[in-house]
Parts: sequence; C-alpha cells; structure tokens
Amino acid sequence: MNKILLYFLVIFILPGTLISQDDPKLTEIWDPAPEIVTPGKTSEAPSDAILLFDGSNLDEWTNEKGGQAGWDLRNGILTIKPGSGSIKTKRSFADCQLHVEWRSPSKIEGEGQGRGNSGIYLQGRYEVQVLDSYNNPTYSNGQAGSIYKQHIPLVNASRKPGEWQTYDIIYAAPRFNIDSTVKKPAYITVLHNGVVVQNHSEIKGATTYVGQPQYIKHAFKFPLMLQEHGNPVSYRNIWIREINITRLFNGTNMKGWYTYLDSLGKDNDPSHNFSIINNLLHIEGKYFGYISTERSYADYYLRVAFKWGVKKYPPRENGKRDCGDYWCVGTTINSPNKYETAWGMKHIFRTENFENPTGEWNVMEIICSGDQSEHYVNGHLVNCGKNASVSNGKILLQSEGAEVYYQSVEIMPY
Ligand code: MG
Repeated sequence: MNKILLYFLVIFILPGTLISQDDPKLTEIWDPAPEIVTPGKTSEAPSDAILLFDGSNLDEWTNEKGGQAGWDLRNGILTIKPGSGSIKTKRSFADCQLHVEWRSPSKIEGEGQGRGNSGIYLQGRYEVQVLDSYNNPTYSNGQAGSIYKQHIPLVNASRKPGEWQTYDIIYAAPRFNIDSTVKKPAYITVLHNGVVVQNHSEIKGATTYVGQPQYIKHAFKFPLMLQEHGNPVSYRNIWIREINITRLFNGTNMKGWYTYLDSLGKDNDPSHNFSIINNLLHIEGKYFGYISTERSYADYYLRVAFKWGVKKYPPRENGKRDCGDYWCVGTTINSPNKYETAWGMKHIFRTENFENPTGEWNVMEIICSGDQSEHYVNGHLVNCGKNASVSNGKILLQSEGAEVYYQSVEIMPY
C-alpha cells in the first residue's frame, strides 16, 4: 500500500469512527438478510423444508442396505413391518431442524422397552428414543424423549397409545479434527408434543445398548435413520430443514461473486466465459481465470456439485481433467500424501480417483478447520493436510481450459 493511501485512511476514516460511535446504525447488520420462508400451517412443512415423507411414497428412503424400504405404506401412513429392518434417507444431513409425527400401536402389547419401540437416529447413530411411555415404566434414560442412555427427558410429555405425537428436533452435527478427535460434540434440542424435553443436550457419542457411548469420526453429512425394533410404530408428516447452510451460488445470478480473467482483469468478461445456463453456473474454460466469492471464509465445510462439459481449449486441449489434488498457490500445507514441486508450487496427489465418468455429477466436500484441511470426492477422503500456511480466504472456482458446470456451492460453519 502506498503512503498516500495510508494518509487518507488515517485522516478521514479515524475521525469518522470517533464521531459516529453513538450512531445506532453502527450495530445494524443489513447484509446478509435472512431468506424468506413461508411457515406451514400447524405442523405443515414450511416452504424450504425437504419433505421426507408426506404420505404419498417412500422415494426418499431405502432399507439399511440401500434397497427398497420394507415398511407398510397405507392410507398415507407408514407403519413398521417387524423384521423388515430400519430405514434411512437417501439424502445426507448435518445441522438440521426435523419434524416427525409418530404413533405407537393402540393395542398395547409388551412392556418397558418392548412396547412401541422405535427411534429417530440422527446421522444414523444418535438416537432420540421413540417409545410408548404412557403408563409404561422403564429406565428413565430410555423412555420417549430420551437421548437413549445419555439424557433423561426433562418431562414425560407422552400421549396415549394410538394418538399421534410430534417430535421437533434441532440438531447440530459434531465436528471432527483431522486426527479423528472431536472438535465439537453434537447438540440436540427436542420438543415432544410441543414441550421441551431436551434443551441443547450434549451428545456423548454414538448410541449404544451396552457400555459407554463414544464418538467415531464419520462424514459431516449423513443419512437419517428410523429404527425398526420389532413393534409396529407408525409415522407420518416427516420433514427436515438444513440449517446453518449458506448457498453461495443461488442458481439465478452471480450475486456475491466476481470474475477475473488473466487477460482482461476483474469483472470484464465480454465473451461470457462465466454464465448461468439452466440454473447452473457455466464456466466455458476458454479464458483462464476464476470466479471468486467477494467474502473470505474460515472454519467451514464446503460442498460443491459439478460436472465436466465436453469442451477443452488450448493449451490444455489434450490435458486430463481430474479433481482431488492440492495445488498450493503461494501457500503450503503438510500432507501425508505424495507430492512434487511443479511450476514453483507444491502439488499434492490425491490417494485415489473417485471421480465419476465425464459428464456425470460429482460432489466435492472440503473441510477447512483452523490450519487443517480435508478433501472428499464423492464421499471418499482423497487428500488432507495440517499446518496450512493460510486459515482463511476467498473461494475461487477456476477456469483453466476445460468446460465445467456447477450446480451448487454450499458452505456451513465447521
Ligand atoms: Mg428405540
């Protein structure tokens, strides 16, 4: 920065700051404005929810092995078929708000843990117990509304067997360090029939029937599971909202981004190297450069869905297209993976190729946590490192001789 600019900053900005300290506008935040959501009537899903089960089909679900979910769907109600196994969502989730309606059988059979037992397994492993706990003694940390064998519900808000009950759950997924230790445990808040039964309870690890719970590192996003425990518990109206998620690409325009071309500079793209086509961000690749977020980010989980187009341009018309390697552009990071130095940069090779064939969608997930980084391609960890020389910065999508489409660019605090 030159001296003239510094002089102006000191002279004009500093006095301005002193004068305006009483200005209430200083503490007003206008941007970002929260997205507008139309709330549902009563327990209907709000406008931005993902409908996991609305009574019509089981399209969002599979059995535990990924095959057809084997529960009974009749008259808009889903009922567990004993012996058919648990079911899980096809989609994966991290931080979320979840609404579930459930009903234990009106005909009382069994007792204690054997009566109306099912469960909501956040991320497939942290159970909010579903049980007929209406005049049905059992251990307190195993009754309805408990985090099974971890947290007793604050009260018993159970309705009678045969009556519909609701769970409204607010869940924050755990964050893990690169060495698999816990960076931040999971937290959960549960309302049972509108009554708080768990208030920001810290989850101690994966639900276990015997012994103490412990955390085992897993993917940041993971499917939701509903437990089959031998009892014909019914479900209806299941919806979920992902929370703490920012969609950096809105599918409509490039708000929040700027372009840069090596030959033409910032926001100067007359031949539309960067454009929106059918709600996708299209990078022609003909001109080298990038599209960059205006803001910098640190401690995040980034999820990007992309596919290659068919076009390639010189000097890379015969170059291979791939993803998963690290190229340290003016930076460095220590990785256990093989590396070379090329064009004056550290180039760290991915462990294996998990990319789908050209033209198919790929999901890349990148975790930047302090000075640590992990890189996943289609769910597989392919690169990682510690002691990065940078811990925050902008996110750039490069244009480098190959046509590429981006469907979504999402970021969550990590
Ligand atoms: Mg259970």
